[in-house]
Amino acid sequence: MQHLVTPVGIVRSCFKEKFAIPRQPHLAPAARGVLELLPPFDQGDAVQGLQQVSHVWLLFLFHQTLEDKPRLKVRPPRLGGNQSVGVFSTRATHRPNGIGQSVVRLERVEPDRLYLSGIDLLDGTPVLDIKPYVPYADAVAGARNDMAEAPPPLIAVDWQDDALVQARRHALRLAEPLVELIEQCLAQDPRPAYQQPQPERRYGARFWDLDVHWHYPEPGRIRVLDLQRVEETI
Ligand code: SAM
Repeated sequence: MQHLVTPVGIVRSCFKEKFAIPRQPHLAPAARGVLELLPPFDQGDAVQGLQQVSHVWLLFLFHQTLEDKPRLKVRPPRLGGNQSVGVFSTRATHRPNGIGQSVVRLERVEPDRLYLSGIDLLDGTPVLDIKPYVPYADAVAGARNDMAEAPPPLIAVDWQDDALVQARRHALRLAEPLVELIEQCLAQDPRPAYQQPQPERRYGARFWDLDVHWHYPEPGRIRVLDLQRVEETI
């Protein structure tokens, strides 16, 4: 059976590239975005009642990693990228039909948009459906997952003085919790597990309209070096 699905909306996110996005929602509560609803869902009727809900499930397309040939085995970054496991035992982005799911905080509802936080979604992500989180059914007491028992361990993040001054200034301009966003995302150490970071190597990722650069002055510690404003391309 084949069935055509059509997005109900598109996410406008703080994350402009995949690198440095947390692996799951809630890991960076300061990660915010807006789900812009598409016609005919943008008139208010479809979101009526959502004001009574603190969190929603988003079903979405991993639109940047869609593939024609389904993979049966994947190598999740969480396992260091060198262990191959069945695709259905993971939340890998490369998966049949390319469908992702995230529970995110619903901050505010407007007729044509939902304001979200704690997201793990790339800018431009097409959303296929929105469902209210139902605590009594969705929070399962005693549930276990031995492959993903706990959130990723956090590492220390500090700032070059100038970078922190810049970040605070941009936070005011954007009216966003930018310092917290950068700290929460980098604390999860976005670097691929197989790379041994050398202090002279600079890493970078884009948050909102800013290219943020950092390095590892020593193993297990990140220092934010600078932020550069860029023209938004998406
Ligand atoms: N919570 C979702 C799930 O379990 O289905 C996503 C988990 S997936 C491991 C999270 C990663 O997906 C993020 O770190 C980011 O790199 C990637 N990602 C987010 N939005 C994407 C998109 N639209 N296309 C491709 N990759 C995306």
